Amino acid sequence: MKYVLLTLITCLTSLLLAQNTYIHCGKLIDTKNGKLLTEMTIVVLENKIIGVEKGYITPRSDKDITVDLKTKTVMPGLIDMHVHVEGEFNPKSYTEPFKLNDADKALRSVNFVKSTLMAGFTTVRDLGGTGVNTAVRNAINKGTTVGPRIYSAGKSIATTGGHADPTNGWKKDLMGDPGPKEGVVNGADECRKAVRQRYKNGVDCIKITATGGVLSVAKSSSNPQFTIEEIKAICSTAKDYGMHVAAHAHGDEGMKRAILGGVKTIEHGTMMSEATMELMIKHNVYLVPTITAGKEVTEKAKVKGFYPEIVVPKALEVGPKIQGTFAKAYKKGVKIAFGTDAGVFKHGENGKEFGYMVEAGMPAMEAIQAATVTNALVLENDEIGVIEVGKLADIIAVDGNPIKDIEVMTKVVFVMKDGKIYKQ
Ligand SMILES: [Zn+2]
Repeated sequence: MKYVLLTLITCLTSLLLAQNTYIHCGKLIDTKNGKLLTEMTIVVLENKIIGVEKGYITPRSDKDITVDLKTKTVMPGLIDMHVHVEGEFNPKSYTEPFKLNDADKALRSVNFVKSTLMAGFTTVRDLGGTGVNTAVRNAINKGTTVGPRIYSAGKSIATTGGHADPTNGWKKDLMGDPGPKEGVVNGADECRKAVRQRYKNGVDCIKITATGGVLSVAKSSSNPQFTIEEIKAICSTAKDYGMHVAAHAHGDEGMKRAILGGVKTIEHGTMMSEATMELMIKHNVYLVPTITAGKEVTEKAKVKGFYPEIVVPKALEVGPKIQGTFAKAYKKGVKIAFGTDAGVFKHGENGKEFGYMVEAGMPAMEAIQAATVTNALVLENDEIGVIEVGKLADIIAVDGNPIKDIEVMTKVVFVMKDGKIYKQ
């Protein structure tokens, strides 16, 4: 009893001595219930939300801080399920493997992750780089650099010549045979080896390229590139290590195999048939649309010399279809997880995706829920995506009302991550 009392007194005094932050929110989005609340106060202590109350609450101590967001709309920190923090696509990207060291990529990504955070994205899933992405995650976690919380897939897993075989388009003696360590696999055993190697490298999740892709130096944008046995081997091994699998897919057959093989998310989903949409629903697989990337490659394909010749027809074939497929899949009831493919376009412009989703028929509130509660669910992180007592203090605000004008999602004016204010 004595100890219980002592603990209570210690807790109370630390609460009294601690500095609380009172955030006065003109509007507050309740992402769990899809409601817009008005005149609310969020109380933050260290990195946690300790109170969400009606009205503007006056701080109880002189040490407390008040943040006035009475003219703003406040919501949980946004989550992007598909970014690449190591780079930003440009015509020189194809020669970078011969010119840049890991240190160059790491230093460059410092600005990319910073602009991502300043755009209101407090958590991202990085779906593929060279492994520098995992180091960037560590640097952010240690406080060495400023950026969002990162779930890193390290280097994507592809098949020989597939999308994400890093030696595509090189001359033969440079091609070599990259193997499972570099994420190039053939057969179930190599698939398991590649997943285990990634676990050893410290990744959080696995990315596979289930079909051809737009930006690789290869002919097909959408052919299936794994057998179903290979995908099953990857997914079951990933599960053993507590990781989920994300599958890049444009073509329908590769997508179908990925769903049946056990992946959690389909990235892009460009040529998805109605039957595959039904399969997505049946197997509880999420579509990550990346409409912004579709728009970007369509635009850039028209700029002479921006992409290699082999890429241009693929970009013009795939790019314009992504938004339409998203519209159909959403209407049919496929679960949507917000994701952009930032890195294919400029980091920090992730918020443009909201406008494209709404343009395609998704209500603004649902688009915001896709980028918060839904993505938290996909990441199995119950500490983010909502503003509730006990959750991490990842809080952002925009000017105006995004439910009426979704474009304000590109103008984030306040960012708090883990209780620390980065933008005000
Ligand atoms: Zn991508």
